[in-house]
Amino acid sequence: MKRTETKQVKIGRLTIGGQNKVLIQSMCKHKTSHIDEVVKEINECEALGADLMRLSVLDEEDAQAFKEIKKQVKIPLIADIHFNPDFAITAIKNGVNKIRLNPGNINDETKIKEIVELAKKKNVAIRVGANSGSVNPDVDKFDIPLSHKLVFSVKKHVEILEKYDFHNIVISLKASNVKETIDAYRIASELFPYPLHIGLTEAGPLDISLIRSTAALSPLLLEGIGDTIRISITGRAQDEVIAAKRLLHDCGLYDNYPTLVSCPTCGRTQVNVQELGKKVFKYLEDNSINLHVACMGCVVNGPGEAKGADIGIAGGKGQYVIFKKGVVIKKVSEAEAYDALIEEINKLR
Ligand code: SF4
Repeated sequence: MKRTETKQVKIGRLTIGGQNKVLIQSMCKHKTSHIDEVVKEINECEALGADLMRLSVLDEEDAQAFKEIKKQVKIPLIADIHFNPDFAITAIKNGVNKIRLNPGNINDETKIKEIVELAKKKNVAIRVGANSGSVNPDVDKFDIPLSHKLVFSVKKHVEILEKYDFHNIVISLKASNVKETIDAYRIASELFPYPLHIGLTEAGPLDISLIRSTAALSPLLLEGIGDTIRISITGRAQDEVIAAKRLLHDCGLYDNYPTLVSCPTCGRTQVNVQELGKKVFKYLEDNSINLHVACMGCVVNGPGEAKGADIGIAGGKGQYVIFKKGVVIKKVSEAEAYDALIEEINKLR
């Protein structure tokens, strides 16, 4: 898929923007100075597909902790800093690859200059972002849509960085409302040359966030907008990574991942296809098997409806048929079904 051409920005060993792949980001849920917990969380997220992780900086201890964390993880790290410019300087000195900081929130011009000069020297990118809760007060007073307020707020921050000839910029504009988020990113994509980090803010717990995030982010991804993605979840960072990966895969932007299709089941179903589907998908995910697999409830419609799958299984009365590209290749009992399907899947690897 041809994506919107944005400026390429280096984040450690990664490059975002341009036609590079959309990178998966999550955020640590532990306090940054709790180094062991944070390192474990980052490494688990990396194993699940995270490309980069963001960490909050609440105090000097957190800013200092990057030095040790960097030694124990491989993926690039982003320090999330609000208001305190000294934490940004410490975090950069301790090896972060990117900082999230809104320069318009820092009153001391000399500090902004210091951060920018250090970021240039260390090749550290800066993400400027507006959330629905942090719209610039000068912009907030106007009676205009939230999407416009987000864009204008970001513009003010970007202009400060550009004034100091800093262009290693990434932008985000997050609302918790689906339409406002889509509108804001569409405008930003036209207005700024910089890569966009897409996501929602306050997206809710897992089940709610999955729907809300998919509703907001898929239209953008399918239009070629978005260079990094985060699915915010009131829950585990690991689940954010899995959700982002699945969404990118379903939008045709992440190849190395299985595709499972299964029918909703109905009165024709005479086997437990729900359990079988779950077990099969877990096997495909755990073993990184990049195949299109179907688990269907009946032989009447199953093989035909799922003929696009590389391989599939469809239930009958106490038995299943296994099919490849819609053509039945064997019959197996319900008890044998899982093992028989896995055996056939492994022949295709
Ligand atoms: S494939 Fe068969 S069991 Fe599944 S929903 Fe369709 S008709 Fe029902």
